[in-house]
Formats: sequence, C-alpha cells, structure tokens
Amino acid sequence: VKAKAFMNDLMEEFKFELEERRYRFYYGDHLETNCTINIDRKRLYQAFRNIIGNAVKYGDSQDLTIKVQLTGRENVISITIEDNGPGIPADKLPHIFDRFYRIDDERTKDLMSTGLGLAIAKELVQAHKGTISVSSIEKAGTFFTINLPISHSTE
Ligand code: ATP
Ligand code: MG
Repeated sequence: VKAKAFMNDLMEEFKFELEERRYRFYYGDHLETNCTINIDRKRLYQAFRNIIGNAVKYGDSQDLTIKVQLTGRENVISITIEDNGPGIPADKLPHIFDRFYRIDDERTKDLMSTGLGLAIAKELVQAHKGTISVSSIEKAGTFFTINLPISHSTE
C-alpha cells in the first residue's frame, strides 16, 4: 500500500477518537515520496493503538497533546509518536518493551494493565521488518520512533 494514504487514513481514525475525548492530536505528513510499504493494516493499527493508548493512560487527561509525524529517508519511512505525559525515568527506559514490564507508582491508574502493550507493539513492528525505539524526558514526555522498510516490489 502507499505509505501516505495508509497513514493518513489510519491517523484520521485516531484523530476522530482522541478529539472526541478533548485531547489535542496532530498529524504531520512530511514524506516527499509516494512510496509503498508492505503492511498488515490490522496489525499496525494495533501497534499504534498500544502506543497512543499509553499516552492517554499515563498522560494528564486535562492537558494531553499527541503528535504523530511521518517522514522518510532513502529506504525507510519513519513515524514518530510524541506525548507530553510524565515521561519514563532513564533507568526504566531500556525495559519498557519487555513482556510484563510495568512501572509501578501512583501514576499507574489502570489495574487491568498487564505490561504487554509495548512488547506486542514491538513484535508487530518487527513482523514488518521494522524497528521501534523510544526516548523520554521525565516530566516532559515520551517519544517513540517506528521505522518501516519501503517496499520495492511491484504491488
Ligand atoms: P498494557 O499495555 O498491557 O495494558 P502497560 O501499559 O502497563 O500495560 P506497556 O504498554 O507495555 O504496559 O508499557 C510499559 C510501561 O511503560 C507502563 O507500565 C508505563 O509505566 C510505561 N509507559 C509506556 N508508555 C508510556 C508513556 N507514553 N508515558 C509514560 N509512561 C509510559
Ligand atoms: Mg500499555
């Protein structure tokens, strides 16, 4: 599928849902080429849902901003997802993609969480031969980057 059309379509869905809940959501498409990526919509949707769902769950419900940006380099597209939530301490950051890893403190509102969301997101991205990484600044926010290879086959 075409990366631009796919992302625009997917982000429309999130925008609608998040704005309905009075959160600020911005999507920026800075991709210059109309390249093709080989993806399973349902799986990628689930990966975004896990990441954006965390931003909602751990962020300040009165003042939440989520930004998603699409850019590209030669053989890869990059999607960044940024929130203005509490951030993740540097010593915990290396573990957040581990299965069942959670950060236990008073900000953990949802007792139903199992700590699988990001592990699943990582598996879904890797199933597309992509990579996912994170950076964060405490009390400022969290920044995820997903890289997905551009498909050169005819499709
Ligand atoms: P589940 O997703 O299974 O409901 P979870 O949200 O606790 O549970 P993950 O999504 O894997 O599990 O996230 C792991 C931990 O990383 C969370 O417990 C949370 O402490 C922290 N975390 C993840 N995303 C964010 C974020 N955007 N801002 C702040 N902390 C985050
Ligand atoms: Mg989660």
